[in-house]
Amino acid sequence: MEFLGKTMVHECLKQEMSADPWIPIPEEIRELYIQAGRPRPLYRARRLEKYLKLKKVRLYYKREDLSPTGSHKVNTALAQAYYAAKEGKTALVTETGAGQWGSALAYAASIMGLKCVVFWVRAVYDWKTERRTLIKLLGAEVHASPSKETNIGRTLLTQNSNHQGSLGIAVSEGLEYAEKHGDSVYCLGSVLNHVLIHQSVIGLETIKQFELADDDPDLIVGCLGGGSNFGGLALPFAGEVLQKKRECEFLASQSQAAPNLVEGEYRYDFGDVAEHTPLLKMYTLGHKTDMVPIKADGLRYHAAAPLISALRHHNIVKAVAYPADEKAIFEAAKIFLQTEGWLIAPESSYAVRAGIDEALKAEKAGQEKVICMNISGHGFLDLVAYKEKLGL
Ligand SMILES: *Cc1c(COP(=O)(O)O)cnc(C)c1O
Repeated sequence: MEFLGKTMVHECLKQEMSADPWIPIPEEIRELYIQAGRPRPLYRARRLEKYLKLKKVRLYYKREDLSPTGSHKVNTALAQAYYAAKEGKTALVTETGAGQWGSALAYAASIMGLKCVVFWVRAVYDWKTERRTLIKLLGAEVHASPSKETNIGRTLLTQNSNHQGSLGIAVSEGLEYAEKHGDSVYCLGSVLNHVLIHQSVIGLETIKQFELADDDPDLIVGCLGGGSNFGGLALPFAGEVLQKKRECEFLASQSQAAPNLVEGEYRYDFGDVAEHTPLLKMYTLGHKTDMVPIKADGLRYHAAAPLISALRHHNIVKAVAYPADEKAIFEAAKIFLQTEGWLIAPESSYAVRAGIDEALKAEKAGQEKVICMNISGHGFLDLVAYKEKLGL
C-alpha cells in the first residue's frame, strides 16, 4: 500500500477501494469529455444487417472510435490526468501495448499541461511508426520496452538484446520509473477498478441512447484484453441485471493468443511480470506467460479485470476466443468497413466478429435479438496490419 501511495494518483486509489454505488464526475472532467467529443453516438447497423440478411436480429454499435487519439482510452486518461494535476503532480508515466493507451495518456497530459513518459512494448513500437509519431507529436517521451531506463529493462536486455517485450514488462518499467521520480505518477489504462469506473461513461450513455431509440439490448458484445472497453459498456447494464431491472447477456470476444477468460484460472495473480502490483483476483493465464504476437495487440494481456472476472465466475459474462491467425477477424473488419463505412481497430473487429456470429446464430434459430457491439477504436493507424492481413 505504501508503494502504491507513492506511485499512483491518490484519488484513483480511493476510487479503486470505494464501496460507494456512485462516484460523481467532476464538472471539469465533464467539460474535458465534451472537448474530446462526448457523448459519442450509438448507431444502428442497418447496412450490415442487410448484408447478413437479418430479419429478426437488430445490430447496434457504440462509437468509441470517434475519439481524439482513436480509442475509448481517453475516457480514463482525461480523468487520471485531471486528478494527477489536482494533486500537484507534474508527470504521468505509463506502459503501452498497442500504443492506444500511450497516445491517449500523452493527449490527456498535453491537454492538462503535464509531462508524459511512455514505455512501449518493443514488438509493437518497432512497426507502429505512425502511432509513435502521434505520441511524440503530443509531446510525450517514448521508450521501446524493455529499455535502458530501468533496472528490470537493463536486466532483460542483458539476457536478450533484442527482447520483444510484453505489456507486463512495460508495466514493471513504468512503475519503477515512477517510484524513482517523485513528481510523477503511474497511470494504468485497463484492468483496475478505477479505470473501469471511468469507462462506465460509455455504458451510462448507451443506456440513455437505447431509451431514446426505444429499444433494448439482449446481448452486449465487446473485445476484451484487460476489460476496460468491455467493462465500460457492460457494467452499467450488468448493474441493472444484478438489480433485476433488466435482462441482458454479455459476451467478451478474445484472441486465442491471450484467452484469459476462456482458458485462464480464477485465482490471485500479479498484474505485471516484476510483481510490483498487489495480487488481484482474476481469470489469469499466469503473469509470466509468453503470448504470441497478434495485430490486435491491445488484446494481449495475461488476465482479465477483477470486476469482469467476478462476473465471469458468476456466469453473467461469457467469453469466446478466436484463432490467433486473425483471418476471421480481419474479414469481419472488412465487411464492417464495406457495409457501415467505418475503418475500425483490429481489436474492435473482435467485437464485430462475435456480434456477427451471434447474430447469424440467433437468426438461424429464428430468435429475435438486439445486439450491441462496442467499437473501441478506429483503424487509421493500423493500415499496415490491414495491408498485411488482407494481402492488399
Ligand atoms: C486497449 C484497447 C483494447 C483492449 O483493452 P481493454 O482494456 O480490454 O479495453 C481494445 N480496443 C482498443 C481500441 C484499445 O485501444
